[in-house]
Amino acid sequence: MSRFLSKKYADLTPYVPGEQPKDMQYVKLNTNESPFAPPYAVAKAVEKEAKLCRLYSNPTCSLLVDKVAEVYNVKPSQVLPTNGSDEILHFAFMAFCDKDTPAIFPDVTYGFYEVFAQLDGVPYKKIPLMEDFSIDVRDYFGVNGTIFIANPNAPTGLALSAMQVEEILQNNPDTIVVIDEAYVDFGGESVVPLIDKYDNLLVTQTFSKSRSLAGARLGLGFASEKLIADLNAMKYSTNPYNVNRMTERAGYVALCKQAYFDKKCKMICENREYTASALKNLGFTVLPSKTNFLFVTTDAIDGKTLYEKLKEKGVLIRHLGGERTAKYNRVTIGTKKQMDVFLQKVQEVLKEQKNGKNV
Ligand code: PMP
Repeated sequence: MSRFLSKKYADLTPYVPGEQPKDMQYVKLNTNESPFAPPYAVAKAVEKEAKLCRLYSNPTCSLLVDKVAEVYNVKPSQVLPTNGSDEILHFAFMAFCDKDTPAIFPDVTYGFYEVFAQLDGVPYKKIPLMEDFSIDVRDYFGVNGTIFIANPNAPTGLALSAMQVEEILQNNPDTIVVIDEAYVDFGGESVVPLIDKYDNLLVTQTFSKSRSLAGARLGLGFASEKLIADLNAMKYSTNPYNVNRMTERAGYVALCKQAYFDKKCKMICENREYTASALKNLGFTVLPSKTNFLFVTTDAIDGKTLYEKLKEKGVLIRHLGGERTAKYNRVTIGTKKQMDVFLQKVQEVLKEQKNGKNV
């Protein structure tokens, strides 16, 4: 930290993204990316659009917004595209939290919520998950703050039903409820259809997971027209051209290729169930996941050691540490071949651990 950094950031602990080591080729199961490339039509359209990049992008992203509205059956005025869903989440902290309206989120959830609260200097309260890492929706009734819930949750992978989310909305009619649906396409229930019914609901989604566009940075916010206008005020006060023209085009073409992504999501769900049952056979506890990752633990080896030993063997998973989660690791679901390598290496590590080698 330099001596010039504003004092208001003295206590800021920035978000730590998953590692991207370049020392060797890893089976990379640590950042919940898709193992599948986007369809060729996306790359082709991006290449064409790049020829126009001397020109600013369209700040309203109308090509993409109209397509989103058609695919999700909402009005264009109920959609806001952003630079990854991290950006729409940050806009929500900026627009809907302040000293009288704290941010409220589970104690085990997406780490960026706490970072945004710190960055924006808003108070926040963490509500502990239940012992089994599930959310008790009653804990969120009448909480008098802006609620942020990742559904399905990360890193646990557990999901609330749309009915449970609706109970939270019904019990907080005068505060904003943000439902972060980054992983919803892997078996969760979306509450986008509820935005007409609840004027306090903001739903965020991303193209980073189910649509294979993590590197393009594209997120979406869905909400009532008035909330989208508030969020647009944040956008036009920070970065009006937040979605670049190549990304807008990539998102548009991706939405035209829905069948391709549905097929890939189905494959990931199949690989997830295959991996979950193989890990259970090896003695792991595996939380029931509705995402493209598994949250797993075993008594045979501690979480951090398993992560380190797998890294030595060329397989990267995510060890998050943390009070309640240090025993666990988060494993992104890749191709069947990648998951077989992962399972093979896990077995090797467990065998070495049992034989007392390299401990
Ligand atoms: N929400 C959750 C729960 C996430 O895990 C992530 C990905 N790290 C995001 C939002 C943000 O994803 P992106 O900015 O790539 O859309």
